[in-house]
Amino acid sequence: MSKLGIIYDYQFLDHKIDTFSPENPDRLKNLYIEIANPKYAHLYKKYLPQVITSNLLHRIHSEFYIEQLRSFSFCINPYSYDKDTYLMEDSLYVAKLSSGSNIVLIDALMNNEIDIGFSLCRPPGHHALPERGMGYCIFNNASISTRYLLDKYNINKILILDFDVHHGNGTEEIFYSNNNVLTVSIHQRNIFPFTGHVQDVGIEEGKGYNINIPVYPQYGDEEYLYLFDNIIKKICEEYNPDFFIVSAGYDGHMDDNTSDTTLTYIGYQNIIRRIKSYIQTMNNKKALFLLEGGYNPNVLERCILDTLEELSTSYTNIHLTEQSSRAQLLVEKEIKPILKEYWPSIF
Ligand SMILES: [Zn+2]
Repeated sequence: MSKLGIIYDYQFLDHKIDTFSPENPDRLKNLYIEIANPKYAHLYKKYLPQVITSNLLHRIHSEFYIEQLRSFSFCINPYSYDKDTYLMEDSLYVAKLSSGSNIVLIDALMNNEIDIGFSLCRPPGHHALPERGMGYCIFNNASISTRYLLDKYNINKILILDFDVHHGNGTEEIFYSNNNVLTVSIHQRNIFPFTGHVQDVGIEEGKGYNINIPVYPQYGDEEYLYLFDNIIKKICEEYNPDFFIVSAGYDGHMDDNTSDTTLTYIGYQNIIRRIKSYIQTMNNKKALFLLEGGYNPNVLERCILDTLEELSTSYTNIHLTEQSSRAQLLVEKEIKPILKEYWPSIF
């Protein structure tokens, strides 16, 4: 049975505006109430968030960018910095708390207090570039966590798997020429941020260490599970990372209107079960999950509770998906021709 550590905190709800944005405190409010229910207490150990230090933040984001955020957070129009990513007086503090929470969980993982961590924080991070926040993301939490593992713990083989329905463009860009970090993103094609093409495999030493699996609209459980079983599983096994970071977004659910994919609760449970089995085959079975998107609060709450339940049990019985003609076509026509040079195991 895995020891699971989580972080949730009402301070994460302080990043907010008066008008509606899909990325708002209601995404997590009810989840926090529910998760505090004693019936879930056996699932996890709770850790307290911490604000990230400037030194760590600067390993990914420049002082200029942070200063820019600070000045925009006092503008009258919260959208004066970016059309999606609002900035208010508390936004910078909450974003620093969000990034710092992952560091708390990494230390707990590396001290062997827990096996898997899940930071239930906001704002999300995977779209944030070193010099630019976008897509509701201010600091790139997955990248800061990865940089911390590289620098502090000398872990030089890190896999970042991003299953948010939007491409993790910030994470991709930050490690695009790095061969110590394998970035894998499965996302819907041709939606925000309109990046994440199969051909984008990395550059220089990082060539082959960036994998994009852009799915078509209307893909659902069958197609996703086929792609996990036939591409992602094989790559995880071949790479055999020393640390697993999961950018967990639940906005590909059929009832989340930011995407056209049709994943169900069962589909997400099966995705998590698969990721758990990949983690269990690693030498160093350490993994950090961090929350990215998911914009239907009810869907997000149930998906996260299911995920915690799944991650905390030892049950790993996986029924491999039979066939999916649509996903098979994507694999044969688009993915294999590009990736065969770098990842022979997918054949
Ligand atoms: Zn998303």
